[in-house]
Amino acid sequence: MARNHFLHACFYTVFGLASHMAFAALQANTAGLTEPGDEWLNYGRDYTEQRYSPLETIDTNNVDKLGLAWSFTFPTNRVMESTPLVHKGVMYVTTSWSRVFAFNAKTGEALWEFNPEVPKEHLINSCCGPVNRGVALWTQNGETSVFVGSFDGRLIALNAETGEQRWSIRTTPENSHYTITGAPRVVDGKIIIGNGGAELGARGYVSAYSAENGELVWRFYTVPGDPAQAQESPALEKALSTWGGKWWTVGGGGGTVWDAMAYDPELDLLYIGTGNGSPWNRDIRSPGGGDNLYLSSIVALRPSSGEYVWHYQVTPKDSWDYTATQHLILAELNIDGQQLPVIMQAPKNGFFYVLDRRDGKLLSADAYAQVNWASHIDLETGRPVENPVADYNKTGGSLIWPAPFGAHNWQPMSYSQQTGLVYIPAQHAAGYYSKDEKFSFTKHRWNTGVDLWEMRSHADPVIAKATMDAIVRGYLTAWNPVTKEKEWEVEHPEASNGGVLSTQGGLVFQGTGRGEFRAYHADNGKQLWSFGTDSSVLASPMTYAIDGEQYVAVSQGAGGAIVLAVGRPRPQNSNNPNRLLVFKLDGTQTLPPVLASKAAVRNTYEPLNSASRELIAQGDKLYERNCATCHGGSANGSGVIPDLRMMSTKTQSEFVGIVLGGSKRHSGMVGFYETMDFAQTEAVHAYINHRAAVSLEEEEYSWWDQIRYWFWYYSARLGDAFPWLANALRDANMSP
Ligand code: CA
Repeated sequence: MARNHFLHACFYTVFGLASHMAFAALQANTAGLTEPGDEWLNYGRDYTEQRYSPLETIDTNNVDKLGLAWSFTFPTNRVMESTPLVHKGVMYVTTSWSRVFAFNAKTGEALWEFNPEVPKEHLINSCCGPVNRGVALWTQNGETSVFVGSFDGRLIALNAETGEQRWSIRTTPENSHYTITGAPRVVDGKIIIGNGGAELGARGYVSAYSAENGELVWRFYTVPGDPAQAQESPALEKALSTWGGKWWTVGGGGGTVWDAMAYDPELDLLYIGTGNGSPWNRDIRSPGGGDNLYLSSIVALRPSSGEYVWHYQVTPKDSWDYTATQHLILAELNIDGQQLPVIMQAPKNGFFYVLDRRDGKLLSADAYAQVNWASHIDLETGRPVENPVADYNKTGGSLIWPAPFGAHNWQPMSYSQQTGLVYIPAQHAAGYYSKDEKFSFTKHRWNTGVDLWEMRSHADPVIAKATMDAIVRGYLTAWNPVTKEKEWEVEHPEASNGGVLSTQGGLVFQGTGRGEFRAYHADNGKQLWSFGTDSSVLASPMTYAIDGEQYVAVSQGAGGAIVLAVGRPRPQNSNNPNRLLVFKLDGTQTLPPVLASKAAVRNTYEPLNSASRELIAQGDKLYERNCATCHGGSANGSGVIPDLRMMSTKTQSEFVGIVLGGSKRHSGMVGFYETMDFAQTEAVHAYINHRAAVSLEEEEYSWWDQIRYWFWYYSARLGDAFPWLANALRDANMSP
C-alpha cells in the first residue's frame, strides 16, 4: 500500500512539472474556473464541482434572518433542475424546454430571455420531462458567451450581454432518441457536451466543440458499435471483448454521458460519468455475459483530444439502471497520512466511491444507503460481489435495493472543505425487477428488457399507498469520505429532494420535495432556518456576493423521474409555479400569488365505470407499456403533467384524436397511431376511467381499508428492514 502511494506521489510530481507550461498558458482563461471568489462560474461552481463556497457573511448565527431579496416567476410549470451561474453581476439560469434567462443578480431586473423553441413532440424521447440543468460561460477576446444544450440535441452559443444567438449546431442525429438535459462544461475554449436517452435506446458519447465557432473538435463514444465496422478509438477496440450478442441492434448499448463531469487543470484530465446499459437487462443486451465497458463508469479523458486515459467501472454488468452519471467531486483528502488527489461519487448503486484521480485506483467503496444487489466492493479486485438476488433473470424476479431511481440521482451533492464531509441528497426505495419475456425493440418507447408492469405500484390503491409510505423516503446524508462513515442524517418523508450547497458560514442548504428551502448546521444537521415554497425545491442552491452582500439562490419546480413514475402530493394549492428564489440577510420580499390553478379547472369529470373487467385488464397492460413513464404508474398523476384521472369532458370526447391522431402534439403529446390501434386506445381509455373511479373512492378510507392499510404498511416495513424476507414473501405470492 505504502509503496503504491509513493509511486503515485512520484508520478504526480513528474507529471505536474511536465504539464506546467501548458497549464501556465491556460491559466489566464481558467483562473475564474479554479477560483471563482464571489462568483459562481460553472455548474458545480468551479472545476472541482465541490459546490462549496468560501462566502461566510451568512453563517450559523444569523441565518435565521435570511429573507427573500427578489424572486422571478418563469412562464413554465415543469421540473426545475437548473443551477444559476453568476458572472459580473449577471445571473444566468435555465428552465424546462432549455430556455435561458438573464437577470441583474443584485436587483432581479430581467435582462433578456432566449427560447430555443424546442419542438414539443421531442418530449416522447424523454425519460423524465424536458429538463435543463444550466449553462456554461466562456470569455474569449473580451467577449463572454453563454452555452446551452437544447433538449432536442443542439448546442447553442449566446451573446452574454444581449442573449442573441452566436451559433447553433446539432450534436445528436436528427430524429433520434437523444435528449440533452445536462449543463455543458468548458475546458480551454472547448465546450464539452453529453446527452441522454438510454431508456429508449442510444449509444452514449461526449463531444467537444470550439467555443468560437461550434466546430467539432473530438467525440468519445462510451460503448462500441457494430463490431463489423472499425471502432472510433483504441479504447473501444479493447472494450469489444467485454460485449456479446447484437447490442447495437437492441438499444445501442447505452452509457450516455447525461450529467456529471469534472476537470483537473493540473493533471489536465476531464472526468465523465457514464450511464446505464440500453436495454437495462444484461441478458438481452449482451447475452453470454461480459462487463460491457464503458457502461456505468468513471472515465478520464484528455480534454484536448478526447483520448482515453483510464476508467473505473462502478457497476460491471449493469442490469438495474445503475448509472455512474451522478455528481463527480474532486478534492484533496488525507488518507492514511497522505494527501491524495481524489475523485468521489455516490452513484445510483448505493456505494460511495473514492478513487485516486491520477490513475483511477479504488481507495474505498462503502454503502451509504440500503443495498442488497451486492454484499460489498472487493478492494483487491475493485469489483462488486453480487448477491444471488441481483440476478433477476435467474431468480424469476427480485426486490432489489436501490430501485432504478437510485440511492442518489441527479441532485448534486456538496463537499465542504470546512467539515471534510460530503452531503448527499440520498433516497431509499426498492424496485421489483423481472425479465420482460416479450421484449422487442420499439422506437419511441422505453426499451429496458425489464417488465415495468410488474415493477409498477400495486393495483390496489390502499396497498399501493401503504407500501409507498412504508419504504420510500429521502435523506440528507453527511458522509465522511475518510472514515467512511455517516456522521449525521436528516430523514425526509419522500424520495427526490433537493441538491445541496455548503458554505464556509458552517451551513448546508437543501430544498425538499414537499416545498421547503432549508439551512442546516454543517456539523450536526440541526435545522437552523426554513422558507415555505409553493412547489418542490429539487434543484441545487448556489451562493454569490455583490458589493460585499451575500445572496443564496435556488430554483423551484416539481417533476422528474420518481415523481412522474409514482406521483405524490405537492404543496397545497400548487400549480407547480416555476420560480427563482434569491435570499439575503434581512430580505423582506414575499412571493407573488399563483395564477388560477389548472388542476381545479380540469377536475370536472364524473368517471363512468361500466367497462368489462377484461377490457380494463387489457387497458392496464397497454397503459403501463405506452403511457406510464410520463403520466404515472397505475395512472397516479404527479400533477406535473395532466393527471389522466381528471380528464375534462372535452378531453374525454377527444381521447382517440389525442392518443392516436396526435392533436395535442404542440404540447408534447404525440400521436401513437404507429404502435396502437383504435380498440387498444378504447381499452386504455376504459382503464383510465376505472382508475379515476377507484381513486375517488380512495379519498375516504373505510374502517376495513384502514386495517388493510396498516397491515400492508407494517408488512412492507418489515420487508424493508429484511430484504430477504420481502423476497421470500414475493416468491410465495404473499406480499404486495
Ligand atoms: Ca437511466
